[in-house]
Amino acid sequence: MADEATTALDVVVQAEVLELLARMRAEHDLALLLVSHDLAVIAEVCDRVLVAYAGELVEDGPAERVLNDPLHPYTEALLRVTTVGDWERRELEVIPGAPPEVGARLPGCRFADRCAFAAPECLSGPVPLRETADGRRVRCVRGEELDLSRAGAHGTREVAV
Ligand code: SF4
Repeated sequence: MADEATTALDVVVQAEVLELLARMRAEHDLALLLVSHDLAVIAEVCDRVLVAYAGELVEDGPAERVLNDPLHPYTEALLRVTTVGDWERRELEVIPGAPPEVGARLPGCRFADRCAFAAPECLSGPVPLRETADGRRVRCVRGEELDLSRAGAHGTREVAV
């Protein structure tokens, strides 16, 4: 398990750390659980991506699918506000609002007050993690109904994985 293993490193040292991890995986036939906020590193290293928000798993799937065709609005927002991929941005975007306080008891989706796609049904009860027809998992009542792909809600994006 490598928890933020490359955070705050310059790109040269980061590349060395990633190369070392890749070599250890290959030589010892290891699985690597990489915890990171750096989507560019995740896109380079990971086969599978799990996205967490406010203490809950909100999306899980193959890296190529999650990073290019997210199902959860938080994943889509993360991709929109980072420099990963070929986003053509004129100014730095942010996700408005703030995460709920630790332990806060909320009526429904924990991302609802920051979500551009929130609807009344999002607050009608706890949102379960659901499996989609193609074997991915998402915690969103509108997950398969929304088009959050690179050609979808917020412009164009393509992430090389
Ligand atoms: S459940 Fe509703 S508020 Fe939560 S992420 Fe999905 S659309 Fe947004």
